Amino acid sequence: MGGFRNDPALVADGVQSYFLAQLSPHNCRAIYTVKMTKQPFDIDHALLQIEKAIAIYPKAAMFALYDEGFTTVFEQLIACIVSIRTRDEASLPMARELLTLANTPVALLELSEEQIDAVIAGSTYHRRKAQQILAIAQQIVAEFDGELPSEREVLLAFNGVGPKCANLALGVARKAEVISVDIHVHRVTNRWGYVATRRPEKTLVALEEKLPRRHWVDINRLLVPFGKHICVGNRPKCSQCPILAMCQQIDVENPR
Ligand code: SF4
Repeated sequence: MGGFRNDPALVADGVQSYFLAQLSPHNCRAIYTVKMTKQPFDIDHALLQIEKAIAIYPKAAMFALYDEGFTTVFEQLIACIVSIRTRDEASLPMARELLTLANTPVALLELSEEQIDAVIAGSTYHRRKAQQILAIAQQIVAEFDGELPSEREVLLAFNGVGPKCANLALGVARKAEVISVDIHVHRVTNRWGYVATRRPEKTLVALEEKLPRRHWVDINRLLVPFGKHICVGNRPKCSQCPILAMCQQIDVENPR
């Protein structure tokens, strides 16, 4: 099956076929072949269908926190750092607790590194993150009079902040036209055949060239829950997927 799906000759012109072979109950040698042709990929239609499909699932952590009132770039940035390599289910309550204790750089400096570490102890690399969070707060107070500028370069200059968190914080808090590529956005867009990249950093570049700007912020909001609940890493639920007809299912083995 995987061989058919990934046949370059089939994928090249946007049409991919796959075959199902099955034994007849009456004649064990009879084989039926079912051929399914993929539709051209329509990003607007795909994202609309995904929006409907994920409506029953919790929102991605940063968007959920925004809805709860944690709307500043600083709050979003701190929450994103807490979430790095940590599942939303764990990072969301920790970020909420930390930001409820202190949601500005000045307020954070009232906490010790040990206190921050204790709040985010369930997060991966929590000791290093506690140091980084405190250092970022100190830097903002020292260099920007306590007000974090909404500038990507400023965010990227902080130790511990990469393109994913910088873009997500600016995209969610400021509705800036930026794409945040996490592991879900990377995996799903490659399975679609919409991009063909090996690393999230390359996916970001490819999406910046191809994805219409109106979807730049939403792609993360939509594909995080979609990647967590439907297009999951191992054995995606393709039979339940609203965009099966147009997805090339690149490198998908043994879907459900
Ligand atoms: S669940 Fe399957 S059909 Fe749907 S986007 Fe993922 S790989 Fe494609």
